[in-house]
Amino acid sequence: MKTWRWVLLAVVVLCAGAGVSAQGNASSTKVRAVKFGKLWDAKGKLWTNAIVIVEGERIKAVTTDDSTIPAGAEVIDLSKYTGIPGMIDVHTHMTFYTDETPGTPMTRQLTTNPPAVEVFLARKGAMRTLEAGVTTVRDLGADQYLDIAMRDLINRGEMIGPRMFVCGYGLQVTGTPYKPGLNPPAGGVADGVPEVLRVVRQQIAAGVDVIKMYASTGTDDDTTQFQTFSYEEIKAAVDMAHKFGKKIAIHSYGPDGARDAVRAGTDSLEHATDLDDATIAEMAKRGTFYVPTIDHNRYYLDNWQKIGYADGFQERTKNYIARNLESARKAHKAGVRFAMGSDAVYTMFGENTRELGWFVKAGMTPEQALRTATTNAAELLSKEKELGAVAPGYFADLVAVEGDPLANIDVAIKNVKWVMKAGAVLVDKTKDGMR
Ligand SMILES: [Zn+2]
Repeated sequence: MKTWRWVLLAVVVLCAGAGVSAQGNASSTKVRAVKFGKLWDAKGKLWTNAIVIVEGERIKAVTTDDSTIPAGAEVIDLSKYTGIPGMIDVHTHMTFYTDETPGTPMTRQLTTNPPAVEVFLARKGAMRTLEAGVTTVRDLGADQYLDIAMRDLINRGEMIGPRMFVCGYGLQVTGTPYKPGLNPPAGGVADGVPEVLRVVRQQIAAGVDVIKMYASTGTDDDTTQFQTFSYEEIKAAVDMAHKFGKKIAIHSYGPDGARDAVRAGTDSLEHATDLDDATIAEMAKRGTFYVPTIDHNRYYLDNWQKIGYADGFQERTKNYIARNLESARKAHKAGVRFAMGSDAVYTMFGENTRELGWFVKAGMTPEQALRTATTNAAELLSKEKELGAVAPGYFADLVAVEGDPLANIDVAIKNVKWVMKAGAVLVDKTKDGMR
């Protein structure tokens, strides 16, 4: 049922996309007026009866005055719903496709397709991500530059999916399994400062938007926290990324890699559990973004048999989740800034924003949680002037939810009804109840 809707929408959008290139600028300046009952603009204002005027792919104005709707504009009436900015997931692995064949472990499915096929198949996760109201992702680790191909296909309108900012290969030391049972992708392996510099430069030359480094063990059902890269190696990667104007995301499951990543100047710290107080204080002082990805371990626990993990990791992982949440609670209390990252992989696409529920458990108000997926995330991408808010000049990335997300964060997680990305309507479930 759901699949049908994606297919139909994809066909409609692809046809519309073809129209744009054939007709030049005529359709790219199409004007739409989107009406919301309430609108949380992420700029500090909650509007009642808001009208968002969209011209082409950008927002032209936000108003409450019907008389300012330009003549000939298409009016989209979502006055039953609350509008929020398109959300941003700053930690995904969009290129990891799993075909969900019952009985075949998902860890094995990851290796079976040639790269071109893999990118084509990744449409499924991309559509599910859009359906969750996520219109932009930062993708943190792919093989063979599949992420660059996918990003560019989406930007050209040849593939439907969230806008992507990608890292190519994540840097890792020799001997760290990227996924248990698979060989680590050779492209990201680096030992010692010279190799770290070479691999960072290689990613930048390939055309990535951000650098990713794995500074500790820990992935999938493995929750070990051993630091891998030394402080000197981490510092070299951070400085080289910054020299090229790129930000860096550093993975650390444990406190040691986290401490060195933060003092080396990482822009975001991924996963990090058991953070010590000094590191938390340093993050608050420097403005380092914390991306705890608490929910991905919940996903692993819910799906371990389908993924193909060996029985016996569950208690360890439950314990890790509790400590991950505790680190988030402490960091939030200390004033550390958060960005929402799901670490979506396998079939987790579509569950991207469940992380927001954990943030509320960690002590945030729903509005603070929404900021992690809008303004904060946009700032982490260096796109705070065009993504993550509903305001003139920003990309027309709009989401309609049913209910009040500022009263109940589940509204943003579960009640997404309609999604516009860069002026194009990509998801519309507003008529589902009427059949
Ligand atoms: Zn990840």
